[in-house]
Amino acid sequence: MFKRVLIANRGEIALRIIRACRELGIETVAVYSEADRESLHVRFADDDVCIGPANSRESYLRIPRLIAAAEITGADAIHPGYGFLAENAEFAETCAASNITFIGPTPTQIRTMGDKAAARAAMIANNVPVVPGSPGPVEDVDEALAIAEKMGFPVIIKAAAGGGGKGMRVAKDADDFARSFQLARSEALGAFGNGSVYVEKYLQRPRHVEFQVFGDKHGNVIHLGERDCSVQRRHQKLVEEAPCPVMTPALRKAMGDAAVKGAKAIDYVGAGTVEMLLDQDGSFYFMEMNTRIQVEHPVTEMLTGVDLVKEQIRVAAGLPLSVMETPELRGHVIECRVNAEDPQRNFQPSPGKVETFHMPGGNGVRVDTHVYAGYTVPPFYDSMIAKLIVHGRDREEALAKMRLALDTFIVEGVTTTIPFLSTLMSHPKFVEGDVHTKFLEQEGADLF
Ligand code: ADP
Repeated sequence: MFKRVLIANRGEIALRIIRACRELGIETVAVYSEADRESLHVRFADDDVCIGPANSRESYLRIPRLIAAAEITGADAIHPGYGFLAENAEFAETCAASNITFIGPTPTQIRTMGDKAAARAAMIANNVPVVPGSPGPVEDVDEALAIAEKMGFPVIIKAAAGGGGKGMRVAKDADDFARSFQLARSEALGAFGNGSVYVEKYLQRPRHVEFQVFGDKHGNVIHLGERDCSVQRRHQKLVEEAPCPVMTPALRKAMGDAAVKGAKAIDYVGAGTVEMLLDQDGSFYFMEMNTRIQVEHPVTEMLTGVDLVKEQIRVAAGLPLSVMETPELRGHVIECRVNAEDPQRNFQPSPGKVETFHMPGGNGVRVDTHVYAGYTVPPFYDSMIAKLIVHGRDREEALAKMRLALDTFIVEGVTTTIPFLSTLMSHPKFVEGDVHTKFLEQEGADLF
């Protein structure tokens, strides 16, 4: 087992990783930017290193500084968390070259799944259903248009290197196509330095259903059930839950088998998420695979009782999976992402000093956060200030718990999305579980 793990991240996930390490008897090293000096992850780690200014390009994204910090503090492994360098194959490679274990999959696995067109091709080769579309990247607008016309509109043009909802454009019809195609290409080039795009059929009202998968270095790969992440705003998740309200045992078996087959196709090691779209007619399609721990991982932890971060560390150290098959999925879990944003001003970030911070509690309530009264939310990073997760015997109980937890979550000093989430938890469609990825846009007008 590792002696010291450096955490190449900040915020709630840095604290989450510190907890896992402490439980395993591993020492921790925090890194922080000048804007994060007062952060709890710095206080709770055994050792800490300042790695540069607030701008993440000069701190949390600077590979040489992270490697130097690990070497100076004697860390033998690095956990990247999510975001920042978590899906950067070069970072994983540099760790290996410096004799530091990267807690995650191999550079090749990161690279294959990070290129969405390559990931699609790998899935097609292994008979995992993908959204109908171009077999690989398309360069030429006329060729792309021909593919789109053959499939039928609307279509979505996606950046192969895309992520975080960026580099995607929907084209309604042939007239719209050339412009959307060029826009997606230039957006992809600007945001990712790679203008490669491909075309997919745009599903009208799908659900986003993702499977948590896990592989070890001994060839075992399992899934730990699904998460429904259909409540999104601009392709960004706001609420996640499990089980998916429309899941059946037969569908879970089919989708879970496909997810495991996809992960096995690349001999996947570590925690991963296979994201799929579930169409209203019950057909499902691979969309992409994320090769990291995800924001919403606590949903699966509460449903299965498996500590996914500890499992990541164990697997990276060469131990076999501690569970060899899909565990029992108990009850129902809902997670709300609480952001320092103003829903009434188009979800504009609302950084600043938190004056009051009272967290909800009680049986089955979990809050993952790095915030405390007196903490200043910096404007430089993402605006999530807490994840509120509740576990109930069934969906109805989980919903009741979530409503109560939101009502008793008091944050003053910054504007948060708590009131918006509260209203959402009583929206008749959400209460029925009748949502899709366009739900907020098409039916959520009265929520803001
Ligand atoms: P990113 O990597 O940027 O998160 P994804 O490929 O995971 O992008 O897609 C994000 C979201 O975009 C999905 O959850 C879904 O809401 C929407 N989306 C992506 N592809 C399609 C599609 N073919 N049809 C309909 N919606 C889609």
